Amino acid sequence: MKNVIRKRKYIVCLIVVFLYILSLEIINSKFHEKKDQYYSDKYNELEFQLSSTLNNYADFSSYFYEKFINNDYVLSSMQKAYHGDEVIRDNIRKELYEYFIDDYNLMKNYDIRQFHFHFPDTTSFLRMHAPNKYGDILKDARYSVYYVNKYKKYISGFEEGKIFNGFRYVYPLRYKDEDIGSAEVSVSMSTVISMLTKGNKNKDYTLILSKKVVESKVFKDYLSNYSVSSISDDFLFDNNFNNLKEERNLVDRSGLKGLFDSIERKKLKHLDQYKNLNIIVEYDNKSYEIIMIPIYNIEKIPVGYFISISPNIRYNLMYQQNLLDISIVSIIFLFIMALAYYISKNRELLINLSLSDRLTKIDNRRKFDKDLNREILRSKRSNESLSVIMFDIDNFKNVNDTYGHHIGDVVLEKLARIIKENVRFEDFLARFGGEEFILILTSTSKIDAFNKAEKLRKLVEETNFQSVGNITISSGVYQFKSSDTYDDVIKNVDAAMYDAKKSGKNKVCIFKDEEEVSI
Ligand code: GH3
Ligand code: MG
Ligand code: MG
Repeated sequence: MKNVIRKRKYIVCLIVVFLYILSLEIINSKFHEKKDQYYSDKYNELEFQLSSTLNNYADFSSYFYEKFINNDYVLSSMQKAYHGDEVIRDNIRKELYEYFIDDYNLMKNYDIRQFHFHFPDTTSFLRMHAPNKYGDILKDARYSVYYVNKYKKYISGFEEGKIFNGFRYVYPLRYKDEDIGSAEVSVSMSTVISMLTKGNKNKDYTLILSKKVVESKVFKDYLSNYSVSSISDDFLFDNNFNNLKEERNLVDRSGLKGLFDSIERKKLKHLDQYKNLNIIVEYDNKSYEIIMIPIYNIEKIPVGYFISISPNIRYNLMYQQNLLDISIVSIIFLFIMALAYYISKNRELLINLSLSDRLTKIDNRRKFDKDLNREILRSKRSNESLSVIMFDIDNFKNVNDTYGHHIGDVVLEKLARIIKENVRFEDFLARFGGEEFILILTSTSKIDAFNKAEKLRKLVEETNFQSVGNITISSGVYQFKSSDTYDDVIKNVDAAMYDAKKSGKNKVCIFKDEEEVSI
């Protein structure tokens, strides 16, 4: 019975633990779902901010192209220069420089940094931003210029250059049915960063570029425009990005370095894979959320990351909600476990009560019946010997009559206790009724049972029962036979005990078939 209950208890425990783990699993996967959605929104948002800013500049650059470049004077000058020798080219370069300088300076106020003319073979003709650098062939370093002159088509996109990197808008130039080269209008990425910073007061932006790419493109004497980023030695900052005229919103330039230095390095392990990245970082007692999206150059090759920094609020809330969910489930789990423990303890108590004797606390008759029936079956199966001792207090009525019922109870209690203490763990002692007790001795022959009964008889005889003094018991011993039923065992052991009483009490008698032997 106890085993069945224990098994059931374990099953219930297992089910509750399983449900607990399942709930944690569900909470966890919901959290991850929410987190993935949250970050996917964040990446999209950053991409959108970047692309909408660049689209505005595309409109601006095309206005500039139409207004200042696409006219007879500029195009015919370019054509003349294209066909002219170095002297003619030098003169036209100077003329065009003079022609554009005011507008270029004005444009710079509106964030157009580069303004560059090239011939069809991609030779640089005039850089308004570096008028002394010209004559170099661009096609290997500048895919955009190569593309426009080859396909005679407009192109736009991010591109590293020999001097600056930037977002380029490159227009093919054609005059009187002749392709005469291209013109480029570019915004610097620091401008884009500046625009976004102005527009989003709770965010800062920056950009890092692959060191490899920068070093392979930029003129050696312009490499000082870049410095190693505190994010990774393999990525550089364009010094202009972090040195804006405008105030940054959250962290200043040195703060930005500290912030990036605080990022756990393992989170930056896979920067070379150019995947979207999200990082939570604690800096200066504040929590920040860093979102990084790769940027691709005009040839669709990843060359760096565009980065936004914002206070970490929503993710923290989400995280706290997740912790709260886990805590609630854990509390419910603990509550169920405590309740189950309490109920099972109560059940155990009830079962113990229903199977034990209230006065002596040893097994009662009900429990004894179960035990004897089970041991009978076991003995039949295993052929192991099984004996039973029944004993009864001699003249107990006198005890009650002389000392009162309460003292009688105390005697019964003490007798049960000392017997219990002197039998093996695997034996079963029960109160059979009144002042009668019964003991099942497993794997015991009648001789051994008799010896045991004798020992117990002597033990009782020698025990002092306080005011009552000494008492004695009379015992019957019976060894189970394979043909016996429960009733046979009881009948025979009772008969043996009766014989002990009959022959003078304070005795042990073995039942021996029809003839009982008194010792
Ligand atoms: P014998 O030697 O022949 O066994 O004589 P006895 O007096 O012990 O036997 P008898 O059957 O005449 O009396 C048994 C007594 O045991 C009567 C009853 O009041 C008492 N008794 C039975 N159960 C309890 C009990 O729970 N508490 C107390 N105090 N007495 C009990
Ligand atoms: Mg008696
Ligand atoms: Mg009796």
